[in-house]
Amino acid sequence: MTTPRALSPEALADLRRRYRLERERRVRPDGARQYVGADAEFGYYAADPYAGERARREPLRDRVDVAVVGGGFGGILAGARLREAGVGRVRIVERGGDFGGTWYWNRYPGIHCDVEAHVYLPMLDETGYVPEWKYAPGEEIRRHAVRIAEKFALYDDALFSTAVTSLTWDEPSGTWTVATDRGDAFRATYVITATGTLTELKLPGIPGIEDFQGHTFHTSRWDYAYTGGTPDGGLTGLAGKRVGVVGTGATGVQVIPKLAEDAGHLYVFQRTPSTVDVRDNCRTTARDVGADHDGWARERRDNFLRIVSGEPCEEDLVADRWTSSAVLLEKLLPSFRRRGDRAAFEAAYEAADAVKMNEIRARVERIVTDPDTAEKLKPWYRYACKRPTFSDVYYEAFNRDNVTLVDTADTHGIERMTAHGVVVGGTEYPLDCLIFATGFSVGVSGLHSGRLPVRGRDGVQLLDAWRRHGPRSLHGFTSHGFPNLVRLGAEQSAASVNFTHVLDEHAVHAAALVAAAEAADALVEPSREAEDAWLAVLAEGAPDHAWFHAECTPGYYNREGSGRPNGPHAYPDGAYAFHELLRRWREESVGEVLRPRNRQGTTGADASPDR
Ligand code: NDP
Repeated sequence: MTTPRALSPEALADLRRRYRLERERRVRPDGARQYVGADAEFGYYAADPYAGERARREPLRDRVDVAVVGGGFGGILAGARLREAGVGRVRIVERGGDFGGTWYWNRYPGIHCDVEAHVYLPMLDETGYVPEWKYAPGEEIRRHAVRIAEKFALYDDALFSTAVTSLTWDEPSGTWTVATDRGDAFRATYVITATGTLTELKLPGIPGIEDFQGHTFHTSRWDYAYTGGTPDGGLTGLAGKRVGVVGTGATGVQVIPKLAEDAGHLYVFQRTPSTVDVRDNCRTTARDVGADHDGWARERRDNFLRIVSGEPCEEDLVADRWTSSAVLLEKLLPSFRRRGDRAAFEAAYEAADAVKMNEIRARVERIVTDPDTAEKLKPWYRYACKRPTFSDVYYEAFNRDNVTLVDTADTHGIERMTAHGVVVGGTEYPLDCLIFATGFSVGVSGLHSGRLPVRGRDGVQLLDAWRRHGPRSLHGFTSHGFPNLVRLGAEQSAASVNFTHVLDEHAVHAAALVAAAEAADALVEPSREAEDAWLAVLAEGAPDHAWFHAECTPGYYNREGSGRPNGPHAYPDGAYAFHELLRRWREESVGEVLRPRNRQGTTGADASPDR
């Protein structure tokens, strides 16, 4: 790791001190409890603004081969890979009114994906689609999700505007009963859950939030009926209005410049500024991205993952701010940390981090003309304490006369709301509309939400089985006592900034498990010993995160400042090595999780999943 323009030891010590102060200023004793979900009186925040009336239909009582819970990229890719594996009837059940997941729900003005489209959009080789911009707008991504679903005939059996409410294993028939909020109770030989991670929107639990009489909504349920316009802008409904936006995370950074264009006056309520690096979006041709041979997209995607996972790689095909900052993003992976001894690595890392963050703070100063506003927009923490963001229009928005930045750090966020506006530092800001760009709850989606009980063998609930000793799995996909249930997601597996790539590898793996079980007329279920061995792999290589998170400002990456990293154990060597491990395991060891069915559909395995 090279250290460009290293800072003096005194300058580094000053930075460390400043970071600690900024963190102390922001940590709140109530941590994640400061937020409220879109439940009960706030339930209307989560209503689907895009689907229209739910069409009436008869409840289903039939049987399919595979039920897939979730129609985002995880579910779509699982469906597509199952089709490729020749599996028969696949039914995807989705809460939204169509496929797309994150890209179905998030349609706010300015929405783009800041991971390069040519590596982010999955199945480009299979669909023949080549994006024309380096970073794609949300609508293009949503349409690509639909393209894959159409190509693989996933609409055939899909259920939309339908939430799965329970999954129950039936031993005699060797099937799962899938119950939904539309009265369905159909059977499936296999269930694949692809319930996503950042799916449950959250609101700040601001005193008086329910008293506000102006218009409000969350960015993941954009109200175009009120604002007018489209994700490209033209929000004519905001002309002459006093609009507030709470939150300056990855969503806020994209939406604020669009709101600034059309609002009468925009008040940006910021608590912690993001790092906003150069984006440099540009048109691309098929030639630019090497789309001239079969498998080009797979190669490009692999190249990106290798680089951000710290694997040796001679060429950087994507060459953007993610790849150039890889070591700052994934510093906890052994693949990076093996370079030099630990102390030397951490010193080099800290020096490189300081250079990067100084660069970003200098960028703010260069662009923002009002020195006081520029000072407030400077991030004082290490790169990747918060999710890095990229924009070539964000800082510029604060030079407009109709935009006011209201810093709320000293009061730990907005103090309270009144019938007419928002109060910060004793000053009331009257508003016609307040938009929450306040993100999503972590660790409460899907199977962890408690809203989707999973009852395995002997009626044991998955969360009960995990209550005492935490989640147990083999590779994060399957668990003892829950036959033919395959989970997609980062828990006990591996994640990456290019999450659709991870989901695709997981989908291939899930489809291979189902195909292997079908071929052997077997159930998919790991033994306890296989789970123990996998947990030992995760525990043994688990990196020590404390040194990094100790100086980070609070956010969802570190459980609002608790110092512990968010999320479950992950494979310590990162996603690239994890995918290699899965590939080898499928070739050599898939038989380990196949258990012959007995005549009633059971395996005769030790029945109790609890331990
Ligand atoms: P975040 O959780 O990242 O941001 C929420 C924002 O709300 C923060 O700025 C937070 O401040 C602020 N906030 C919360 N409560 C208050 C309060 N009481 N007063 C003032 N401010 C408050 O959510 P996002 O929706 O921005 O992003 C979530 C994730 O979605 C990203 O991390 C990313 O993974 C994904 N995403 C990806 C994009 C892409 O291009 N690929 C684009 C957009 C989102 P504080 O930081 O102080 O807590």
